[in-house]
Amino acid sequence: MKKNEKIFYGEAPGRVFYEGRDAFLRAALESVEERFALACASFYEYEEGTGLLRLRQCHASGVSFEGEENLKPQPGSAAARALETMQPVRSRTSGGNFLYSPFRFDYSDPAGGSSVVPCLGLVRMERSPRARRFLPSEAAGADAYLRSFLRDYYKAEFFSLHRKYDKNVAAITELTEVFATALRVRDSFRHILSGIQTYFGFDRVRLYLIDEKNRKLKGELSADIRGKIKSIAYEEIPLEPGAHRFADIVLGRSSGAFMERYKDCVLYMPLAVQGVTIGLLIVDNLLSQQRIEPQELAMLRSFGGQIALAVDNSRLFDKVEELSLYDELTKLPLRRYFNQRFQEEFYRAERFKQPLALIWADIDHFKEVNDTYGHQIGDKVLKEAGRVILSNLRKIDFPCRYGGDEIVILLPQATGAEARRLAQRLSQELAEVRIAVPFSKTRELRVTMSIGVSTFPQDASSMDALLEKADDALYWVKSHGRGQIAVYSEVAAAKEKEKAGSPPPASLP
Ligand code: GH3
Ligand code: MG
Repeated sequence: MKKNEKIFYGEAPGRVFYEGRDAFLRAALESVEERFALACASFYEYEEGTGLLRLRQCHASGVSFEGEENLKPQPGSAAARALETMQPVRSRTSGGNFLYSPFRFDYSDPAGGSSVVPCLGLVRMERSPRARRFLPSEAAGADAYLRSFLRDYYKAEFFSLHRKYDKNVAAITELTEVFATALRVRDSFRHILSGIQTYFGFDRVRLYLIDEKNRKLKGELSADIRGKIKSIAYEEIPLEPGAHRFADIVLGRSSGAFMERYKDCVLYMPLAVQGVTIGLLIVDNLLSQQRIEPQELAMLRSFGGQIALAVDNSRLFDKVEELSLYDELTKLPLRRYFNQRFQEEFYRAERFKQPLALIWADIDHFKEVNDTYGHQIGDKVLKEAGRVILSNLRKIDFPCRYGGDEIVILLPQATGAEARRLAQRLSQELAEVRIAVPFSKTRELRVTMSIGVSTFPQDASSMDALLEKADDALYWVKSHGRGQIAVYSEVAAAKEKEKAGSPPPASLP
């Protein structure tokens, strides 16, 4: 599964550590050849189905090779007797002197259960016809010597099989979990990418998604070898044939419709849901130049559908969440989202003793706009109001379409004076907006809004009171000619004056 799966199997003759199982076998055969003055040593594995002794490796005159020279042990032959008795058998023919050393090791099946996998076979040692025959003591020595090598050989093979199997099971379980939870998690792409990166150990995993509307393939995220995730949103590829290699793959213009490999260490995997391609996953080992192994390929292929589904689901989830949190017309957050933020900001303001200002704005005579010019023009007014607000706020400010033509803005760490300045800017900008009304005499429409401001802790000590005071200030403006801004503390003072009998001011400063 994981790359770098190089296991050192032990110390071979000459005190050299050999790498890999074939090298280990070679060392064993080479050593027995030298020690027992052989012309040739061949290692066979017995294949139950065919009854064949399959040649795995042969070592002769200092050269080792793998071949297709299989043996069919004839009944009564030396090889057959060796396998039957599990004892070394010597034989002499015109072809040479032979010693058959059989072996059998039973290992538990790495796939689990109680089943046992037998490893059965023999090593054939050969001397030329003119050379001396194998003595019984030599046969016993060679047999014991080989067995100890082969025991280690199979132990290593099964150890690695078990490890591989355990890893696969862990990867499947955990990845499935990652993909399932990706439905619910906000940072789901992040989880999907780091899941793939962690379990496959690629140098890099990149995710691109198709933006159908703009006909583009857009970079999303990239996970590097240390699992660090960064945005690749700056990558935008036109989704046109011939524009880019990635575009061609996604458009199915490249070979390999499902997956494509590049120099064995890059893999392009188009992500498709119900036959519709939604993006592209690219994994690579370009840094280490490690080949992506066939098992990894098969595993990724089997996960392809799940990855695509998880990516698509989380994209859908984000979309639904966005739809439920933001107003389509003004692009402002909706009340539900605002309430949650308001709680957080109010708590923070109280806890850290920071000011928090609230703006409550309402478009003047909006009903009349609708009645005179129609709802579509009314919608345009709302849209413009949203645009003016969004383009004037700081990052930490939080606006909300509170309902109808009412907009509330939360201004963390802002004083009443700062909130007033912002309100003035918003009023001014909105007043400058001209909305075309083609079928009317005036041909254009201008709107104003009335704004009330309240601040914590000056005007209120609770969330409800803060809203109420901003609404009070707004109401005061509405009832004093509209199109103005009122800060609650000033309204309260003006109200006191009204009560005391002096005439109310036409507008506040
Ligand atoms: P005031 O100056 O006192 O605020 O007067 P007004 O006409 O603006 O009165 P009010 O704020 O009560 O009117 C709100 C109107 O907004 C009533 C409703 O038909 C209209 N409205 C609410 N939502 C929408 C919308 O999404 N689109 C349009 N075009 N109109 C809307
Ligand atoms: Mg209104």
